[in-house]
Amino acid sequence: MPTDPPYRGRFAPSPTGPLHFGSLVAAVGSYLQARTNQGDWYLRIEDLDPPREIAGATNEILHTLEHFGLQWDGEILYQSQRNDIYLASLEQLTQQGYAYPCGCSRKQILDNAISGRYGPIYQGCCRQGLGKDKLPRALRVLTHDSAISFVDSLRGPFEQKLESEIGDFVIRRADKLFAYQLAVVVDDAVQNITEVVRGADLLDNTPRQIHLQKLFNWFTPNYMHLPVAQNRNGQKLSKQTGAPTIAGLRPQTVLFEVLRFLNQNPASEIIDCDLDSFWQWAVHNWQPVRIPANDQLTPDLFL
Ligand code: GLU
Repeated sequence: MPTDPPYRGRFAPSPTGPLHFGSLVAAVGSYLQARTNQGDWYLRIEDLDPPREIAGATNEILHTLEHFGLQWDGEILYQSQRNDIYLASLEQLTQQGYAYPCGCSRKQILDNAISGRYGPIYQGCCRQGLGKDKLPRALRVLTHDSAISFVDSLRGPFEQKLESEIGDFVIRRADKLFAYQLAVVVDDAVQNITEVVRGADLLDNTPRQIHLQKLFNWFTPNYMHLPVAQNRNGQKLSKQTGAPTIAGLRPQTVLFEVLRFLNQNPASEIIDCDLDSFWQWAVHNWQPVRIPANDQLTPDLFL
């Protein structure tokens, strides 16, 4: 009798700075989902974009996760070591006629784009081939306009028509770096991830990822998009908005606030527990149905 594949979750930080409260929410949410489903929790360092990386950030992230008692399974996957597999995937899409080179400069893209609710919509200028005087720059994937839909486990149905709402999107950038959309889809498939738990800022990226999964003929995982932590000015917590690092803070105190942020109603006495007992409580009492389906929320502390 066929059995369901074992649960596999992941946390996939980009080493663009130390972990802050917002990134810890995604780490804790994905970790608790994996542990309550008796599954594995993988760590993937999305170090695909050297210009945006901060020296030492990867080590700092690993130490902070350990300090908070977030134990990952198996080997850490580093995207920077996976150029060959991304290249092979691009070749597959190109050979199947799904990918094409785009010769538009940033200015040409913006001049010709229509602006949509998710940003500028690429109008497919290079779909029929590079015009004269154009050299290949980025690689784009063909999209279509049949709705791509999925059911987010917190937010319910979400759909996009990629061609008219996003446009053919980039899978290899003009600077020759592999695009996030490509790498995340390849790695979620290679790692057999069964559920992606991450911030709601990535909700509208999901149909692009499902589109690629379908082109590759790969399985689509479940998706759960957690509310994103914002500061009191309504800005997403990030390095750019000056979010303080959580490295070195007492884990139970911060984790308690994460559980409150996710509306888990943590018992006040767990703040004083040792870290193992804290996690035992958290795993035992984890109730994803309680998580608010907001895009953004302001935590009470740690701003
Ligand atoms: N690397 C992304 C980030 O740090 C997360 C990507 C994902 O979870 O799909 O925001």
